[in-house]
Amino acid sequence: MHVYADNAATTPLSETAFQAMLPYLRQCCGNPSSTHAPGREAARALREARERIAACLGAEPEEIVFTSGGSESDNQAILTAARLGAAAGKRHVISTAVEHHAVLRPLERLAREGYDVTLLPVPEDGIVRTEDVRAAIRRDTVFVSVMHANNEIGTVQPIGEIGAVCREAGVLFHTDAVQTAGHLPICTDELSVDLLSLSAHKFHGPKGIGALYVRRGVSPASLIEGGGQEGGRRAGTENIAAIVGMAAALEESCRRREKDAAHTAALRDRLIAGLSGIPGAVLNGDPVRRLPGNVSFCFSGIEGEALLWQLDRCGVYASVGSACTSAAYAPSHVLLALGRSPDLARGALRLTISAETTEEEIGYIVDVVRRSVAYLRECTGAASERSDE
Ligand SMILES: *Cc1c(COP(=O)(O)O)cnc(C)c1O
Repeated sequence: MHVYADNAATTPLSETAFQAMLPYLRQCCGNPSSTHAPGREAARALREARERIAACLGAEPEEIVFTSGGSESDNQAILTAARLGAAAGKRHVISTAVEHHAVLRPLERLAREGYDVTLLPVPEDGIVRTEDVRAAIRRDTVFVSVMHANNEIGTVQPIGEIGAVCREAGVLFHTDAVQTAGHLPICTDELSVDLLSLSAHKFHGPKGIGALYVRRGVSPASLIEGGGQEGGRRAGTENIAAIVGMAAALEESCRRREKDAAHTAALRDRLIAGLSGIPGAVLNGDPVRRLPGNVSFCFSGIEGEALLWQLDRCGVYASVGSACTSAAYAPSHVLLALGRSPDLARGALRLTISAETTEEEIGYIVDVVRRSVAYLRECTGAASERSDE
């Protein structure tokens, strides 16, 4: 059996998105900046995709900037907000200890450039407290960046509440919604966000395409200088096929969201219940306020990397935490921020399921994880006995 349980790392392209892309990979070859007929045809496709994506987010088409994905959107959001602050003489920024590296690394750069960066701690349940955000805001605070849902432990943050606090304080608010777009309802006005990042390959669209929502009145800084595409906010010829695929995937995900979320969350809870029965298993993150497809555990006394290897051999494809860090053997910054010891954090396993996952697969995963954990503990037990001799 083969079970893909790494949907937080990436999702397979949907048939709908694939079919929508085909004409733009073949016949429709124009550059949307050209004024001839093929160019106008490409420009029309671009305009329609922008309208459809904006509609899914409760936004205006002009508020959508296409980027190469979640990482670029996060970088552009942080840089935009920082520049606007510096222009007003403000240099304090607020974020959290559990953000994705696409937010944390640009924040580190701002710190090197003389910005004062406050990273809020997160309690053991993985939920950022709105009161902590309120208390951290100062007169010189430029922006707050809090992710909508965490990619490792799946916890969903009270973005609407935090947005209201930022709005009241007159501080810009960015959210990395890469894990939630297409999976949870998103309305930019209800969330009171000024900047919001999304990435198509996390909701069954193609890889290498994303968007940054930029509220009207906020002027975004361009990371890439060149032509005047995207209203001067992002240079480079638009990837029309990918953009059209992203629009189709987002619409389909939003249309199916409620039904898919109910099915996925029910399977998630069965998986959590099954894995909780393994000795030394600790669930990471709030059991309820989490993404419908996210299951994250630490198993004491084992290495997550070794567990992944065992699962891979049995056809279960999972992750230790984020795909971006699993090459580095250091324990996850997210799990350490929750207060897990480095030893326990090294025994992490993230399983992210989708609406395609079946009950039979859940049973198989539980069985394979249980056997693999027991096997690895036996191996380390035997090894430490040998070293005792
Ligand atoms: C995947 C992910 C990103 C990066 O998106 P890419 O499109 O792969 O660059 C950023 N933030 C979060 C929360 C993610 O899950």
